Amino acid sequence: MQVKKYVGENIQDVIWKVKGDLGPDAVIIHTRRFKEGAILGFLGGKDRVEVVAAAPNKEEEPQTNSVVEAVSEKHYNSLQKQISDLKSFMQNIVSKPSSVSKFSPSVEGIYSFLLENELDPLLAENLSLMIEKELAPGDLNKRAVIVGFLENILKTFIQIGQPIEAGNGKLVAVVGPTGVGKTTTLAKLTAYFSLMESKNVALITADTYRIAAVEQLKTYGEIMGIPVEAVYTPEELDNAIIKYQDKDIVFLDTAGRSQKNAQQMGELKSFLQAVKPDEIYLVLSATTKYKDLMNIVESFNQVNFDKVIFTKLDETNSYGAVISLLYQLKKPVSYLTVGQNVPDDIKRASHEELFSSLLKGLNR
Ligand code: GDP
Repeated sequence: MQVKKYVGENIQDVIWKVKGDLGPDAVIIHTRRFKEGAILGFLGGKDRVEVVAAAPNKEEEPQTNSVVEAVSEKHYNSLQKQISDLKSFMQNIVSKPSSVSKFSPSVEGIYSFLLENELDPLLAENLSLMIEKELAPGDLNKRAVIVGFLENILKTFIQIGQPIEAGNGKLVAVVGPTGVGKTTTLAKLTAYFSLMESKNVALITADTYRIAAVEQLKTYGEIMGIPVEAVYTPEELDNAIIKYQDKDIVFLDTAGRSQKNAQQMGELKSFLQAVKPDEIYLVLSATTKYKDLMNIVESFNQVNFDKVIFTKLDETNSYGAVISLLYQLKKPVSYLTVGQNVPDDIKRASHEELFSSLLKGLNR
């Protein structure tokens, strides 16, 4: 069997090419219309038709004949009928090309753009279907209308969390995989609340596997005049929490956990159940692939985190994975970090910040 792809200006032209090349027994297996040379797949460009067709190899013919000879005349006639039914079915599809295309040409362009920006394919498809279904046909070519519509959907599904509120001995724990920027983010938050909001802050770290991280936090603490305490046992932790109960906020750093290590996750869960923080933040990196983010979230769900902080937004141009994750997660995102500088490179999360690059690209 040989399978080939043909492109032409209209269906008739392409069918001629198919028949001329593959012979009269060629069967059309797929057709689609598209714009050649179009910007974003739909602006301008020339209408083209693509047909994928299949036909038996020439050298396979004798084999086919011998099979045909072997079957009874009744079977032969039934096979002939099936082939002719299949051909008319395929011709029917060819005469209605829009029925095989998932979206109209302009929405197809949006769909491709969303995929290029690393949105989860299922989310890209659902958003495109919503555009196709909900907007008036006359609006499907109006970029501003589409951008506004998408922005509203994303805003509805993606929640922005309230910032951390200081309270009497408020205990805020931070969890996450290793290397996402957990410790750096804690240093930024501690500095922000201490220096900018003039709050009384303390920092407890149970991330004592990494001596360098403890030293790093102690150095920041010294510079900012904030107490930083490393705890190695549950008793030390209890004592530290009691010691700092009159502070406005006590931040608690936990050891970075691999989502693939069930034992580590179990330990973290029991640790947090014993400590009962007022809020638990899961720290995730914007440079992680969508599927890996989903796996991380699935594992950390067992510690029942409240909100999310996304780090390293400065290291990626496309927030598609971040948007897809937050869309699925249905838990709020409170902070975004955009660089290594303590304390400057942290911001309150906002829809504008999260969507602007995607929507600007779409509006171009
Ligand atoms: P942890 O293992 O999760 O505690 O991660 P660290 O806080 O030790 O950070 C790991 C690396 O990521 C360090 O080199 C940080 O400087 C870097 N990092 C943290 N936050 C950001 C950020 O927002 N942007 C960039 N580019 N790097 C960051």
